[in-house]
Amino acid sequence: MIKDFIDDTKIETLLTSAKNPAPERVREIIAKAYDLKGLSTEEVAVLLQTEDDELIGLIFQAAHKIKEDIYGNRLVLFAPLYVANHCSNNCLYCGFRSDNKELNRVALTMEQIAREVQVLEREGHKRLLMLCGEHPTRSSLEYFMEAIETAYAVKTEHGGEIRRINVEIAPLEAAEYKKLKTTGIGTVVLFQETYHHETYKTMHPTGPKKDFANRLTAMHRAQEGGISDVGIGALFGLYDYKYEVLGLLLHALQLEKDCGVGPHTISIPRLEPAFNAPAAIKPPHPVSDHDFKKLVAIIRMAVPYTGMILSTRENPAMRSEVFALGISQVSAGSRTNPGGYQEDSSEAFRASQFNLGDTRTLDEVILDITEHGHIPSFCTACYRLGRTGKDFMDLAKPGLIQKFCQTNAVYSFKEYLIDYASAQTRVAGEKLIAQMLRDTFKTKRKNSVINKLKQIEEGKRDVFI
Ligand code: SAM
Ligand code: SF4
Repeated sequence: MIKDFIDDTKIETLLTSAKNPAPERVREIIAKAYDLKGLSTEEVAVLLQTEDDELIGLIFQAAHKIKEDIYGNRLVLFAPLYVANHCSNNCLYCGFRSDNKELNRVALTMEQIAREVQVLEREGHKRLLMLCGEHPTRSSLEYFMEAIETAYAVKTEHGGEIRRINVEIAPLEAAEYKKLKTTGIGTVVLFQETYHHETYKTMHPTGPKKDFANRLTAMHRAQEGGISDVGIGALFGLYDYKYEVLGLLLHALQLEKDCGVGPHTISIPRLEPAFNAPAAIKPPHPVSDHDFKKLVAIIRMAVPYTGMILSTRENPAMRSEVFALGISQVSAGSRTNPGGYQEDSSEAFRASQFNLGDTRTLDEVILDITEHGHIPSFCTACYRLGRTGKDFMDLAKPGLIQKFCQTNAVYSFKEYLIDYASAQTRVAGEKLIAQMLRDTFKTKRKNSVINKLKQIEEGKRDVFI
């Protein structure tokens, strides 16, 4: 059985040895990152300890180029769906924590979940991240599995349907992950929150989440249970960001070593204020915008093929900046309270986990990212065609994923423009697609893309390669 593999002293030593790095060494590591083979923990420690603005500028340039080379200009969009907020844990940063007696506790019924999904489908969403608190009865595995099945079954006009549900729930045993897999989920996501043992202990005073090692090894158990795409993350603001980036990297390397494939995604949430949550109101180690951009860029260079997820915790200006530095997936039009998407949402449902930095609608987010030259994608092809886990990485590494991702992004975006977009977004979107047909696709592929786009205009849906 896998044991706790995070050694605090090792991470601290890596950071101490890398202090005040020589500029030539930093330049050498940046040059290596352009080879798209990733970086070692020692190399990442050196980049993290780089404080010189000119060198940080070079780090940003490298991250941008790596992102463009591997992912092109596409950004995958999803919506979080909170189904229940009862929780036995007392995480000091979260509005759902058990000591927050003022929170409206809600566990949505299957009818309410179906109504939430209808709203999301009618906005154009195809991908969900389903979440809940940790509670033995109000958020049991059986309840959660029924919620997933309910969401997949909801169909609306224009072929509206959810095609991929990723999940973010408390750690399970391998056999339970195996059971969960039968519902047809995509990625299982679980954040370690902090890789620093002492901080972890302080932040999780009571409840099952107290167990650092159980949480740390959960993604190994998920793989053992047959889940091929797993996602990890750290909640930035709880401890030193440099320490957390190395923790994430060590976690990724351990998964690769033990399971044959590293994480599919890394999430990088920053602490947001939350209702009655002391650590969120006054973060112990706030991460500045400058350091946040730096950490995104360094993660992109360290694990170039691992998707990086940004949520609506960040405000629109920051989101725009970090898209260019390596983010490949973003949430949009989010609510963090169960029941928050329903138009008739009453005060009783006001029960959010934390405040949002970006409260724009999906269409507003899409217009903005389109105008910045990113192509929004609702693609779910890889997962539906079995291009997951190691198979996905094998495709990604020789650069093939760009071919699939760019093309499928254009198809899924075209469908969105016809079925859901506002007039303004449609104009901006068509302009971007025309520009990509001119500049991105070479003759042979261009003809096939034009042909498929025509089929979409004639009414064909769910087109992908
Ligand atoms: N309850 C499960 C858990 O803790 O893993 C899964 C869902 S929990 C709702 C999802 C994540 O929200 C947590 O892992 C945590 O990182 C994040 N979160 C909690 N409070 C937050 C806050 N104040 N600001 C930003 N993210 C927060
Ligand atoms: Fe519960 Fe998760 Fe919030 Fe902790 S972060 S209180 S486990 S919902």
